[in-house]
Amino acid sequence: RSAEPAREIASVCPYCGVGCQVGFRVRNGRIEEVVGRDGPANRGRLCVKGRFGFDFLVHPDRLTRPLIRIAGAAKDPADCLDPSRIRGKFREASWEEAMERAAAGLRAIRDGAGPNALAGFGSAKGSNEEAYLFQKLVRTGFGTNNVDHCTRLCHAASVAALLEGIGSGAVTAPFTAVRDADLIFVIGARPTENHPVAATFIKDAAARGATLVTADPRGSSLDRFATEVLRFTPGEDVALLNAMLHVILAEDLHDAAFLAARVDGIGALRTHLAAYAPEAMAERCGISAEQIRRVARLYARSPAALTLWGMGISQSIHGTDNARALIALALACGHVGRPGTGLHPLRGQNNVQGASDAGLIPMMLPDYHHTDDDDARAAMEALWGAALDPRPGLTVVEILQAAERREIRGMYIMGENPAMSDPDLAHARAALARLDHLVVQDLFLTETAVLADVVLPASAWPEKDGTVTNTNRQVQMGRTAVAPPGQARQDLAIIVDMARRLGLDWRYDHPREVFAEMAQAMPSHANITWDRLERENSVTYPCPAPDAPGEDIVFHDRFPTPDGRALLVPAGLSHPEETPDAAFPFVLTTGRELEHWHTGTMTRRAGVLDALEPSATVSLAPEELWRLGVEAGARLRVTTRRGSLECAARADPEVPEGVVFLPFAFREAAANLLTDPRLDPHGKIPGYKLCAARVEVA
Ligand code: SF4
Repeated sequence: RSAEPAREIASVCPYCGVGCQVGFRVRNGRIEEVVGRDGPANRGRLCVKGRFGFDFLVHPDRLTRPLIRIAGAAKDPADCLDPSRIRGKFREASWEEAMERAAAGLRAIRDGAGPNALAGFGSAKGSNEEAYLFQKLVRTGFGTNNVDHCTRLCHAASVAALLEGIGSGAVTAPFTAVRDADLIFVIGARPTENHPVAATFIKDAAARGATLVTADPRGSSLDRFATEVLRFTPGEDVALLNAMLHVILAEDLHDAAFLAARVDGIGALRTHLAAYAPEAMAERCGISAEQIRRVARLYARSPAALTLWGMGISQSIHGTDNARALIALALACGHVGRPGTGLHPLRGQNNVQGASDAGLIPMMLPDYHHTDDDDARAAMEALWGAALDPRPGLTVVEILQAAERREIRGMYIMGENPAMSDPDLAHARAALARLDHLVVQDLFLTETAVLADVVLPASAWPEKDGTVTNTNRQVQMGRTAVAPPGQARQDLAIIVDMARRLGLDWRYDHPREVFAEMAQAMPSHANITWDRLERENSVTYPCPAPDAPGEDIVFHDRFPTPDGRALLVPAGLSHPEETPDAAFPFVLTTGRELEHWHTGTMTRRAGVLDALEPSATVSLAPEELWRLGVEAGARLRVTTRRGSLECAARADPEVPEGVVFLPFAFREAAANLLTDPRLDPHGKIPGYKLCAARVEVA
């Protein structure tokens, strides 16, 4: 250590959507330590990722120079499995050569096959400014709306149902509103693993006397704090929630005044729910009629109930119906728009809310204006000085399916890793390999980058300035703590360079200029300025005045729909997903673990996190291991109709019998080789939480 004193740079954790404020303590150009700051979402707390997840910045695998695929070097999906196979397939290049090669390939496809033969994946790991510029580049430089990001794999179904039901896809209350809640309903979420600091606020509230109800096929450490635990059958969310609604309406426990004043659709919902008596649903959802009735009464009679949900609701091919039932439950009881009430889909990535707000989605321009809304499109055309296509673009999974059919010929992927995160990876990787031209901008030579024509070395979050928006709608300022390594460049500069080479006259030098333009494009962010964020670090949108705090609780008197009223949308029972059968008797469910972030690109290169969870495991109930005749640690083979993988067994009492859980962060046992690529028809999200599987001793 030198005598140079450590500087503390105020920023935000780049991992989950909680958005903890951090202090990067920097000495000699390196982050030595990370501490929690007093941000509105964390109050000084951090989880293990926020505390220890940053030495990936100086990992020897960091890309430090642009790479170009050597002429004739084959793109082989098998390279995703073993990076050593790419030896001799890439060469280093100057930025000028790499950018010109990258842009020339995109230009050739745009001008030859047409704009809709191109697509872009942006990233919820980048800043709002990067997300905004990336979607603007695809829309105006490529000329297509084929632009999306990982929201499609995360809460797309929740957003579809929220927009339909209450006219806004964002949360109606921050998770910290649990402090005012009498009842907290957590369904399809495991906050202790996936939103760890949010979990601490939930546990605090439960310890102070709030009633906690948890509902999930898997158990979780939150259950220890719960008054009621509903471990329902995988995939039967609608049966459970509709049965609760049936009780509430049948016993007149609903908030009739709230419904009359603010909500449409109660008549149709009442008729629809006639068939959902708890006695009729109990066997199906695996919860007794008595418990369904008890929980429904608790929820409805609670003066203030807050609902938090996660991927268990949304990552389903009927995810929109799951979310519709949940929204109807809250609306029926008037549990929206007051302190301690609300609807809160816990966002996954640190900036998935902000990237979606900024328009990094194929069917909507910034601020959620549909691409076919003539007035909104005309306003954006005037601001951007470019004609826009009114047709909505393709979504993440649809883009790779179109690439497999050779309808998409070229892609620009910034900070996403679809060769690990898409469902049915054998097809997704083959589709990426079929592209005529693939440009990947990332920190490492990811499973996706090994299939690229040009790889652009990018900057990590602590290496740049920018804003991000967390799950609570809090727009927060991130600041540069350290420099990118070698010749790696800031992502914003790369996007601007690409835009110029595609014929756009862009002149942004700093993210504050982009933020100023976003303010023009996004009235939802009125009264939030770069200078204000520099001073205050965090401002919640919507914000009524330049000196007012933003609004934590929204929709207290009207919803942002044309007539100000919400809509109850009946959700039906459907079982389009695979159900277990003789050949595939288990339910496979996938997700994250506390220590690793998404496809593991960063956290598997962070020393402490890798040491805590170094390898892939498949988790089963101890009884299932006993039936297989093996102990924890034995190698098991998991097979679905898409593929097969092997890894070590873990005995996990939180996993129900008949279910296996696989995390998706591990290249050597990539869970998405097994998952089902079919999509929810509304949110276009795949059903990562349920497909049929077979488990054998390897
Ligand atoms: Fe980072 Fe989320 Fe952990 Fe907070 S809870 S430190 S935002 S990973």
